[in-house]
Amino acid sequence: SPSLVWFRDDLRLADHPALRAAADRDEPVIGVYLLDEVSPGVRALGGAARWWLHHSLASLRDRLTDRGSTLVLRRGAASDVLPALVAETGAGAVFWNRRYGGAERKIDAALKAALREDGIEVRSFGASLLFEPWTVRTGAGTPYSVFTPFWKACLDVPAPRAPLPEPRALAGPSTHPASDALEDWGLLPTDPDWAGGLRERWEPGEPAARARLREFLDDDLGDYDRARDEPAAGATSLLSPRLRWGELSPHTVWSETLEAAGTGRHAASAHRFLSELGWREFAWHTLFHFPELATRNWRAAFDAFPWPRLQPSHLRAWQQGRTGVPMVDAGMRELWRTGYMHNRVRMVTASFLTKNLLIDWRRGEQWFWDTLVDADAANNPFNWQWAAGSGADAAPYFRIFNPQRQAERFDPHGEYVGRWAPDSAEREPIVDLADSRRAALDAYDAMKRAR
Ligand code: FAD
Repeated sequence: SPSLVWFRDDLRLADHPALRAAADRDEPVIGVYLLDEVSPGVRALGGAARWWLHHSLASLRDRLTDRGSTLVLRRGAASDVLPALVAETGAGAVFWNRRYGGAERKIDAALKAALREDGIEVRSFGASLLFEPWTVRTGAGTPYSVFTPFWKACLDVPAPRAPLPEPRALAGPSTHPASDALEDWGLLPTDPDWAGGLRERWEPGEPAARARLREFLDDDLGDYDRARDEPAAGATSLLSPRLRWGELSPHTVWSETLEAAGTGRHAASAHRFLSELGWREFAWHTLFHFPELATRNWRAAFDAFPWPRLQPSHLRAWQQGRTGVPMVDAGMRELWRTGYMHNRVRMVTASFLTKNLLIDWRRGEQWFWDTLVDADAANNPFNWQWAAGSGADAAPYFRIFNPQRQAERFDPHGEYVGRWAPDSAEREPIVDLADSRRAALDAYDAMKRAR
């Protein structure tokens, strides 16, 4: 009887424990991807994410076909569609790698129980995180709320396993189950087609992901520690969409980085880079223990924050990169054009929205969710709450970024601003930086008094 491998946020063949388990079973292997836009609590993908998903699925389908297997595409609620496919194919086993969001965990647990009741072998594996969220706990048995001790505790538990090799050949099914046509899913923008900048910048799929990892480790790792905060330097890995979609596993990135640093030459950079993967682990740890991360303040005190009434023109100016603040405009335009923004600039634009414009962080989180190719269910709300002051281990509220000083410090020759927003310096800022900063601090004081 065939084995089904349910692909989700793990669009790769290498280091894929569920695929490995299926290959080891020595029966025909059928890959499946379900586009589930109807199950309650599952967050609808944003536009840039849909674009990435389309291309990454096309790549995965080709790679599975090359190896003798297949990728079946179906649409609908996982709790209906998966059991139906199991019945249709006569599958005797279903394997998947775990998901960690609240709604996804419920769906997966219910499916596991229902399929097992029907006598199907079901197994799930850890593949998307280096450390399963329930294995890292404080001495008191609670989840961590501060990064440094969290990461220290991670490094004290057994090291991440070595990555698994990619299966060379897979047995395919004798008859191929019907599949939706990827083109019919409408994941790509058509009218208007705004994806030109994404096509220029990115090539989704596992082969390009592996090539970028090699290139980063061979050419750029040495400079990471020094230049990672300079948006014009191109010194970071650009692996975030690869990790988001699972074209690379964190285990692969981890072990190849350690290997590259093995000579001792790039030790400081490797250490720094691996701790950024640690922030990804921490964001998912936080989401696992607080599933409402995208909608509720992690610090409940911020429920009393006196957000003024929304000024839609301010929100629009921020989204479109027309605030008159060069660093902010450059970042927002890079985002719109390429589906990506450098981390330093993400922090500056988020601080500007939530503090200088006093717009609720959830509005910014939603815009990033819609426009980032790496839009991540944990990293995005986690970092927005970090920037807004309401999150775990967040920046203290009163540390309000001054976007002009940030630009002087991290873009001293104006290269980044010149690339994305050369016209911006001629404009007047839509708010006065000093006045708006004071207004933010007043709002924060009001919140504290309300407690
Ligand atoms: P590198 O510096 O090369 O880092 C390597 C990897 O570490 C990244 O690919 C990413 O997986 C992880 N990482 C790095 N920084 C962080 C961080 N602060 N938090 C969690 N993981 C991190 N990252 C996303 O992947 N998806 C998001 O939706 C996202 N939204 C963000 C929103 C805001 C407001 C801010 C301030 C940051 C956000 N980040 C998000 C984190 C960070 O900006 C990106 O991961 C990083 O810029 C990606 O570029 P890189 O791969 O070259 O990073």
